[in-house]
Amino acid sequence: PVGGGGGADETIKVVCRVRPLNSSEEKAGSKFVLKFPSEETISCGGKVFAFDRVLKPSVSQEYVYTVAAKPIVADVLSGYNGTIFAYGQTSSGKTHTMEGVLGDGDLQGIIPRIVQDIFNYIYGMDENLEFHIKVSYFEIYMDKIRDLLDVTKTNLSVHEDKNKVTYVKGATERFVLSPEEVMEAIDEGKANRHVAVTNMNEHSSRSHSVFLINVKQENTETQKKLSGKLYLVDLAGSEKVSKTGAEGAVLDEAKNINKSLSALGNVISALAEGNKSHVPYRDSKLTRILQESLGGNARTTMIICCSPASYNESETKSTLLFGQRAK
Ligand code: ADP
Ligand code: MG
Repeated sequence: PVGGGGGADETIKVVCRVRPLNSSEEKAGSKFVLKFPSEETISCGGKVFAFDRVLKPSVSQEYVYTVAAKPIVADVLSGYNGTIFAYGQTSSGKTHTMEGVLGDGDLQGIIPRIVQDIFNYIYGMDENLEFHIKVSYFEIYMDKIRDLLDVTKTNLSVHEDKNKVTYVKGATERFVLSPEEVMEAIDEGKANRHVAVTNMNEHSSRSHSVFLINVKQENTETQKKLSGKLYLVDLAGSEKVSKTGAEGAVLDEAKNINKSLSALGNVISALAEGNKSHVPYRDSKLTRILQESLGGNARTTMIICCSPASYNESETKSTLLFGQRAK
């Protein structure tokens, strides 16, 4: 269950968030087709899906943070790794959930709230604790990893260290001393993401964005060390591209996204089944990067984002089915 500060028994938490029907959908005559039988269930096309929590369109960004992210932040500060990712079709609310409106106290999303919470925790700690926080920011497009904090690094590779822990080799790791410095790194990465892209909305719907916060603590009296990594992932849009319409580059992109999202689905479902010996992490760059922060001792929350519009009903159903694989 959500909200209890994930204990060791928690594996993968799935939170379903539904955005409001927007005015262009209303104008086009689309209807609100989802129903909420309880706080844990959602009904779509006559089928009921159960998750750890279902969040209606009326919930605030702060509430989403409290339910979907806050417990993982506490775990990362206790030395666990974690991943929070947003899954759903383009325009279902993934970026609104992960980032929201940066700089807006009410409308900011999960990432800025996490950053604030981590620093508040540090500021409240006693003097014997020394913290080192660093962030990295990548984008995965066509199975290539691009460093958003250094545009010269356009094709980074995933390696394993001597403890078999995977990492992105050569990725920029920026040390940060305040929430402001983290937000500056995010702004910089977002600006870099725009470079060489003609339509940012289209591009962001076809690439995964991965923000990593690494928190190291050392008690200077006892020398006890703790280290936790938190991956925050805004996935590429999960919508199917029509086989007849797409060709060339668009079709290649679609195949690539489909491949990495199904690899993620397969990893999540193997973990959910407790099948720890056969988790197919190696099938995509995305799952290789996340390996250490999915499964094992890690905490994972998947936020599946849904459009309520009748027009999107079949995509919403696919999204709900994807979320169901983790349960
Ligand atoms: P995605 O990243 O999944 O493509 P976005 O997060 O960009 O989708 O959302 C699409 C549009 O809907 C944006 O204009 C966003 O501000 C708006 N939106 C998404 N979720 C909500 C919500 N819960 N409340 C209000 N507006 C939302
Ligand atoms: Mg987006």
